[in-house]
Amino acid sequence: MQHAHSSDLFVRAQKTIPGGVNSPVRAFRSVGTDPIFYDRAKGSRVWDADGNEYIDFVASWGPMILGHAPDVVLDQVREQLDRGTSYGAPAEVEVLAAEAVVEAVPSIEMVRMVSSGTEATMSAIRLARGYTGREKFIKFDGNYHGHSDSLLVAAGSGLLTLNIPGTPGVTQGAVADTIVLPYNDIHAVREALEAYPEQIAAIIVEPVAGNMGVVPPAGGFLEGLRELCTAHGALLIFDEVITGFRVARGGAQERYGVMPDLTTLGKIIGGGFPVGAFGGKREIMEHLAPIGPVYQAGTLSGNPIAMVAGLALMAELAKPGVYDELERKGARLEAGLRAAVEAAGIDAFLTRVGAMATMFFTAEQVRDWKTASTSDTDRYAAYFRGMMERGIVLAPSQFEATFVGLAHSDDDIDAMTSAAAEVLAGL
Ligand SMILES: *Cc1c(COP(=O)(O)O)cnc(C)c1O
Repeated sequence: MQHAHSSDLFVRAQKTIPGGVNSPVRAFRSVGTDPIFYDRAKGSRVWDADGNEYIDFVASWGPMILGHAPDVVLDQVREQLDRGTSYGAPAEVEVLAAEAVVEAVPSIEMVRMVSSGTEATMSAIRLARGYTGREKFIKFDGNYHGHSDSLLVAAGSGLLTLNIPGTPGVTQGAVADTIVLPYNDIHAVREALEAYPEQIAAIIVEPVAGNMGVVPPAGGFLEGLRELCTAHGALLIFDEVITGFRVARGGAQERYGVMPDLTTLGKIIGGGFPVGAFGGKREIMEHLAPIGPVYQAGTLSGNPIAMVAGLALMAELAKPGVYDELERKGARLEAGLRAAVEAAGIDAFLTRVGAMATMFFTAEQVRDWKTASTSDTDRYAAYFRGMMERGIVLAPSQFEATFVGLAHSDDDIDAMTSAAAEVLAGL
């Protein structure tokens, strides 16, 4: 496979863009190769700048659950373009989008749109602090909630891959009220809540971890968080930026039947445009400006192009059978990968929740960051490169998810798993 044009672009990009990329994981550094630059995408396929075709399992890191450039979304976007691209004033599409989110996500009664997942989690933490009048919050090791200062500690994929412990530029003060605990460890949560009585505003959690690779919640973990938050007057925030509209239409809260106080969304709800959202109980959301004291704003928030795209996508996902189909496709991928691992006789731990999965190159049972980090990342890098040579794009890091979507045909999935069988046999 030739990558001459991609290589040229990468050389050129590095002159004007730090590292040549606008988000660090795109640089492919942890898989020991240069990034490929994309030219276009449709359905389950992407084409790079040299015209090579790949079956894509990155899905723009989650949003493209219908596949790339779905006509149902594009038609709405084209129509909206002629009506204006941003008003700085409210529009009907914002009401429709809010209604669609409230209708789908069980615990959300009111929602506010922002432009990224980072803004959603940052705003949810501010709201939780403003609502409870408390300052500290708990997050979990290996969970990523975007790159705002107070959340950027022990924070999943990008940082895990680059081995940055926190990051320069974030002050001690900014993280002084952030308490980091091991994922899936309810005893540690209980101890922290008892150690800081009436000081913890919120617990924020990825209800299915996706940013240290896919790590499902252990039995009783989410229920335990719910009970402890209620008992201690802390808010439970589910960061469903990945899991919302993916592991079920109503996200992990629907799948596991545990209701948070606040939920953050992103990725899928923007239909491939920059969108985030946070929502929850009316009583809490009414603490936001302009009706409450907690300030939060955005020039492009509720952008009409992004709203029509998200609406079109959410409407597709509301059709009957969609999540059964995603489950079936996910199961097919998992079965193929398990067979490939067994045939190759390598150590790997496979996780999957619905249409998101990870193959950890470790003999350990992965349940938190400590166990995830035992993975052999050199082996993952070799696997990644072998797959790319065979026309399959995976996330360029061990600690990410493989995303299956509705555009993946059974043949696409089988092509992926047979390529995996070949690559794993050669490792
Ligand atoms: C991607 C992600 C974010 C951040 O979203 P951005 O749109 O990249 O700012 C937050 N939380 C989770 C769980 C994510 O996966």
